[in-house]
Amino acid sequence: MTAAIIDGKAFAETLRERVGALAADFSAKAGRRPGLTVVLVGEDPASAVYVRSKGKATEAAGMKSDTIRLPAQTSQDALLEVVRRLNADDSVDGILVQLPLPKQIDEQAIIAAIDPNKDVDGFHPVNAGRLATGLNGFVPCTPLGCLMLLKDRLGNLAGKGAVVIGRSNIVGKPMAQLLLGESCTVTIAHSKTQNLPAVVRRADIVIAAVGRPEMIKADWIKPGAAVIDVGINRIDAGEGKTRLVGDVAFDEVSEVAGAFTPVPGGVGPMTIAVLLRNTLVAAHRNAGVPLEKDAI
Ligand code: NDP
Repeated sequence: MTAAIIDGKAFAETLRERVGALAADFSAKAGRRPGLTVVLVGEDPASAVYVRSKGKATEAAGMKSDTIRLPAQTSQDALLEVVRRLNADDSVDGILVQLPLPKQIDEQAIIAAIDPNKDVDGFHPVNAGRLATGLNGFVPCTPLGCLMLLKDRLGNLAGKGAVVIGRSNIVGKPMAQLLLGESCTVTIAHSKTQNLPAVVRRADIVIAAVGRPEMIKADWIKPGAAVIDVGINRIDAGEGKTRLVGDVAFDEVSEVAGAFTPVPGGVGPMTIAVLLRNTLVAAHRNAGVPLEKDAI
């Protein structure tokens, strides 16, 4: 193996400690802890696991964590009412409605109802617009985590060629905006892109956010490129077992890339750490407590 492993787990741990220290500072100044409320509708087992680990991480960082659990048959109006109540509650700094939502609820309507200043997921159209226009807002956690890892590894990204594979509102599009903000030359690829391997081969930075196990092969990668694997795919490992793999064929790409994030232990741990970071920032803004520009 020639590539350096980008250790997202260790980076996330350090970020969480930093958030914890700043949260303690905030609590001393504001007389209350930063608060994150997660709303979970229904009993999707994967969502329940995510919500539990978000709650634990929030408490571990010295923040107040609340989870509102609603039945799967909750109506859109009832959920909107919950969101409005949280918008009006000054002890709630961040609101996160766990996706996906049951079919009877329009996700976009719910996201649009969240106060943009409490939208720690960064999914509200106002925050997407702020990101696109270079204004200060909340940036979706996973792409912001990827950017932090890249800057830590590569330093200044200006002028680098970046290919983002995937164009979802949650990962691909905000990732591309962030890289553009760092003055990369950005290409966004998707399922209709022609000759994807040739497009990817031009990149100094590859972000894979597709959801297809080990799709990206070694001969797609420019030697020395940094490869960030966002994909989380569960595949059959034989004997009734499963294992997690990314979108990148880890074993072969590690022979060509300069640096890459493993799955698990790469991008995954960054998502929750950045959620805590966003909640901390929201608390400072909502309570009018100043936070130094480069504090976190
Ligand atoms: P989506 O399904 O919303 O988007 C997938 C994107 O991949 C789409 O833009 C799609 O193109 C594109 N795509 C699909 N097939 C191909 C192909 N053959 N060639 C090129 N592009 C293709 O997924 P998400 O963005 O939500 O998530 C992507 C992956 O990242 C998933 O594995 C998910 O589990 C993981 N993830 C991990 C997180 C973490 O914390 N580490 C957080 C969020 C997601 P088109 O638009 O044309 O359909």
